[in-house]
Amino acid sequence: MHIGCPTEIKPQEFRVGLTPNAAREAVGHGHSVTMQAGAGMGAGFTDDDYRAAGAQIADTAEEIFANAEMIVKVKEPQAIERRMLREGQILFTYLHLAPDPAQTEDLVRSGATCIAYETVTDRSGGLPLLAPMSEVAGRLAPQVGAWTLQKANGGRGVLLGGVPGVGPANVVVIGGGVVGTQAAKIAAGMGARVTVLDKSLPRMRYLDDVYGRDFRTTYASAGATAEAVVQADMVIGAVLVPGAAAPKLVSREQLSTMKPGAAIVDVAIDQGGCFETSKATTHEDPIYEVDGIMHYCVANMPGAVARTSTLALGNATMPFVLAIADKGWKQACEEDAHLAEGLNVHAGLITNLAVGEGLGREA
Ligand code: NAD
Repeated sequence: MHIGCPTEIKPQEFRVGLTPNAAREAVGHGHSVTMQAGAGMGAGFTDDDYRAAGAQIADTAEEIFANAEMIVKVKEPQAIERRMLREGQILFTYLHLAPDPAQTEDLVRSGATCIAYETVTDRSGGLPLLAPMSEVAGRLAPQVGAWTLQKANGGRGVLLGGVPGVGPANVVVIGGGVVGTQAAKIAAGMGARVTVLDKSLPRMRYLDDVYGRDFRTTYASAGATAEAVVQADMVIGAVLVPGAAAPKLVSREQLSTMKPGAAIVDVAIDQGGCFETSKATTHEDPIYEVDGIMHYCVANMPGAVARTSTLALGNATMPFVLAIADKGWKQACEEDAHLAEGLNVHAGLITNLAVGEGLGREA
């Protein structure tokens, strides 16, 4: 199969759909790979890295879209890219169609077969192509929170790990799923005193069994959340209610009970955020202050560490890229019901029930 990988054109997107190692694997399986010139630069991969892996380099996105049987990307295709998609072509990337009727319309009209990373499932009911980005955002959260806490950034001027004779900072993580667990691990590793709040008892049992020595767990009742927030130097929001906007767990009034200069890192901002005062920010201007509390609410945190994110995403997508290329999308989906869950649009029809419901359309 001929696989093409264009340069990402969404603003502030530095990741790339295929790493040189992924290209090498695909070439090893007998496929041809064409990268757009410079596609890997944002993640630190040169055209020569791809050439060494056996890929070809094309100058323009037009050439990639015109020749590839499968396009592998990171972000949803932008309007100009959607116009280049062809009937029968396979598109494998993040799509997030439910809140995006304009994109859905274009993909349906293109006649392409569109497989979305975010709806591919795994045997344990998880989302294997979303999890690596949650891991990245989770591990990044204490790092950006520590920076936000610095005095020059408007923060409380507290060092997470303290020093001999001065106690560590209190970090509260609301939501103990993928993001929350990774955030808690790193915050504890930086020497902070960490509490994870969650509503799922099985999840807290698991966290206590595995990480009981590193951090504490507390059931996330409204009262316990309020008490924890008062004590916190940093609060990390990491809740997810599948298919719904994030619940608002900390109100504006509660900010006045917090320590002046405390930091909020709302990772759940891509689902609307779990603090009443959260509003999405960008990497260029990531933080703002409300009632003396510093907020960091970047909706695309993995973009800050594009190289790590590209490698992590590539590790997760590569087996699926190879399966689709080796067998064709149809046989690959027939043999793997979890990959089939990723099929969102095919031959002018929406093919994923949840996506159709989200858009109020028949699937
Ligand atoms: P997850 O499903 O693994 O974990 C969510 C956890 O929240 C679960 O353990 C659940 O029990 C808990 N939860 C649900 N409601 C709760 C409540 N009311 N109080 C306390 N806990 C509650 O999800 P995840 O992969 O960890 O993702 C968490 C959030 O981070 C999502 O909104 C996701 O979209 C977001 N995210 C953002 C970025 C970014 O760049 N900003 C990147 C990756 C993920």
